Amino acid sequence: MKFDKFDTFIFDLDGTIWCWERLYKNVKKVLKAIQSKNKQVIFVSNNTLLSRIGLVEKLNNFGIEADLNSLINSGYAVSIYLKNFGRKSKVLAFGNGLIEELKYNKIKLVRKPRVDFLVVGHDLEFNMKKLSIAYEALNFGAKFLGTARGKIFVTEKTELPGTGLIIELIENMSGKKAEILGKPSDFICNLIKQHVKFEIRKTIWVGDEVSDVISGKKIGCYTCLVKTGVYKGGKLDVKPDFIINSVGDMKI
Ligand SMILES: [Mg+2]
Repeated sequence: MKFDKFDTFIFDLDGTIWCWERLYKNVKKVLKAIQSKNKQVIFVSNNTLLSRIGLVEKLNNFGIEADLNSLINSGYAVSIYLKNFGRKSKVLAFGNGLIEELKYNKIKLVRKPRVDFLVVGHDLEFNMKKLSIAYEALNFGAKFLGTARGKIFVTEKTELPGTGLIIELIENMSGKKAEILGKPSDFICNLIKQHVKFEIRKTIWVGDEVSDVISGKKIGCYTCLVKTGVYKGGKLDVKPDFIINSVGDMKI
């Protein structure tokens, strides 16, 4: 299918560009074609296993052109949120990629539960001790921010617990609901919209989940679902403008 009428391409990462360790077929070729025509590419992700620097390095290691200006993940959204609403606040964060991102954005972090904000990203080392600290922080009155609701993180070899499960565990124990700043929240959608250089009606959001379609519709651009990740076909409550097998099938 021809996609050359678009000027800005927003691509989700997991399930759309890669299956974590493996780049999908022909993705590099399609991205090169887009970038060689001076069109804009923005990568978006709710993945906070890595910071933005880590995700850019990963893309570059796959031979894909990307820099910090062309990548927005939910860890970055949390950083911007805290810069806007939490200046001088004490912040407790879980998840190495998220912590690295917050530090890069000069957010002051503490390790004690008496904080203004508890922020939770993907944390492979989450345990009962951290759960207790999170509970204490929320009981103290900390505002609860999260990066994603996804319950399963799919890698090529295995399926791991997603960020959403960690957040749910804390919610269940504390009875307090997290505000999620990842896709499809208004906060990250506005941030992404601000990064679009060209006209929004000449922009397309490509992803593997309904949340990508919802996000694209929120910013007012075209949407395209791929079948390489979560969505495999079947009925949809929210309809994208296009459904294709994979990014590799896009003609530019
Ligand atoms: Mg995805």
